[in-house]
Amino acid sequence: MNKIHKEKYWKNPKIYNKKSKKWRRNHPNYDKEYYAKNTEKCLKNSKKWQKKNPDYHKEYGKRKETIIRSKKWRKNNPEYLRMIARKRRAMKKKIKENYTIKHSVITFNAFNNKCYNCKSTEKLEIDHHRPLSKGYPLTLKNAVILCRSCNSSKGNKSPEDFYGRYKCKKLDTKLKKIAKNNK
Ligand SMILES: [Zn+2]
Repeated sequence: MNKIHKEKYWKNPKIYNKKSKKWRRNHPNYDKEYYAKNTEKCLKNSKKWQKKNPDYHKEYGKRKETIIRSKKWRKNNPEYLRMIARKRRAMKKKIKENYTIKHSVITFNAFNNKCYNCKSTEKLEIDHHRPLSKGYPLTLKNAVILCRSCNSSKGNKSPEDFYGRYKCKKLDTKLKKIAKNNK
């Protein structure tokens, strides 16, 4: 909402909402067209908003209708999903991921079979410390043991954001040591 809209809104929210609803009914494609014309701007704004309201997004993702809609979307857009998988494979090929089962045993042992973040011993997974999408392959220096819940809340966050500076630095040192000891 820009400044003029805001002023109008607060003068009489009820009437404003009614008018706005009516206007939207008469211009059903306005949002779509606006988005198509200003995709980058919209994405930027939505990212900004998400950063300010992190919990909303989390809750939103858990809602039943969101899950159903997302499933439906995936079913209707197999090409898009294939494209993402292709990109990921290409990226992997380009930066060669040679992490094997042997390496994963080393990693699990080095982390004492515990989630590095919460020390849980359940549902452990190997996490890319820094993401493949940013050019970091899975290596002994980039593999961390996390439980599923910590891994999913880490999501796309940078390790600095997720663990905090101090804990992340400690982890970096630990990973370097693991890699060095297993050359
Ligand atoms: Zn955990």
